[in-house]
Amino acid sequence: MSERPRNFEEHRFMGDKRTMRVHDLDNATRECGIEDILAAESYLAFGPDTMPEARNRCYHPCRHCQPVDEVA
Ligand SMILES: [Zn+2]
Repeated sequence: MSERPRNFEEHRFMGDKRTMRVHDLDNATRECGIEDILAAESYLAFGPDTMPEARNRCYHPCRHCQPVDEVA
């Protein structure tokens, strides 16, 4: 998946309100289920459009499209 959804062209990070996960659209994979999020209209954009902002809102990075730093 190389293209961002049309209504998310201006955003890189997409939150899913159902799972509280945030996806990096530039690295999204089929596993992310971006189309499913769009179909359910459970997406959320962040402002600023950054990972720290997503984390501030208690969203967790999706392991399919972002390297996960697990601190044990
Ligand atoms: Zn993802």
